[in-house]
Amino acid sequence: MSTSTTTTASPPGQPVGVGRIIDRTSAPVSRGLPRVVEFRGVAKTYNVGGPKEFTAIRDVNFFVEDLPEKGEFICVLGPSGCGKSTILRLIAGLPPQHPATEGEVLVLGERVTRPGADRGMVFQDYTSFDHRTVLENITFGLECRGVRRAEREELGLKWIEHVGLDVANDAHKYPHELSGGMRQRVAIARTLILRPRIILMDEPFGALDPQTRMNMQDLLVSLWHEVHATVFFVTHSIEEAVFLGDRVYVMGRAPGTILRELVLEPADRPARVMQRDPRFQETVSYIRDLISQLEEQGNVKDGGTTS
Ligand code: ADP
Repeated sequence: MSTSTTTTASPPGQPVGVGRIIDRTSAPVSRGLPRVVEFRGVAKTYNVGGPKEFTAIRDVNFFVEDLPEKGEFICVLGPSGCGKSTILRLIAGLPPQHPATEGEVLVLGERVTRPGADRGMVFQDYTSFDHRTVLENITFGLECRGVRRAEREELGLKWIEHVGLDVANDAHKYPHELSGGMRQRVAIARTLILRPRIILMDEPFGALDPQTRMNMQDLLVSLWHEVHATVFFVTHSIEEAVFLGDRVYVMGRAPGTILRELVLEPADRPARVMQRDPRFQETVSYIRDLISQLEEQGNVKDGGTTS
């Protein structure tokens, strides 16, 4: 680690509010558990060899271990265009982000070759089928898996309740009859009903008003405690990342790479209460300053030095 720091933020390894900053230059600490997701020296260049060739991410290295009966909630933060969605979609195995140009993307120890049932994705834009009711949307994946109608409807109705929708009133509504928040509840239910080991969420609450957004964050925390999955959650909102994340990866501008990692205390209160805590605000301010530096000065290198 370099000693000549030009940042005003706390140095790596230091506690900051509800978090602790991990120095990305040191080897990640392994607990010796199986790895749910691992990136080894991953780079992605779009339009290779063409006039629009562009390297979106480079040198991305991390692993997330499989915490038994818990899973980990990873938030990915960084300036727009730094490659957050690229990372998420590489895990999902979705082209054109998949395959990586360099390095290896591993899920449960195997190289990712395509999307799979072990990974479920929730996007920002409402991706329900317009011609299907709430219940039919939520049970779509089960239908594809050949689950009998009675069984999938029983499970579907449970999930309608789990995500805070009203079985009697909402089950047979169509997407155009729902608010944005309700549609995202449907999207979450549709993914979680399939019990994926890994849940990939790309700005899922980005289009919601602040109050609905906080309600959805609380809902997500309570659902996550039930499903014990590993979650990768891309967001622009620092508050959202600090509230939801067990760990936050902060990326620098394209070609993006992970420059800081914060380990955070778990969300133990509703979002609107926790966000008022001065320690929470301290962590948010640290990350806000860091991202401003990344945007204004170019990438901050590992260890706190600027280039
Ligand atoms: P973020 O999610 O952080 O906003 P993305 O991963 O979506 O960033 O994109 C990273 C960079 O890669 C951006 O500059 C974007 O324009 C570029 N990019 C993303 N997808 C493609 C693509 N299919 N073809 C060319 N460039 C792309």
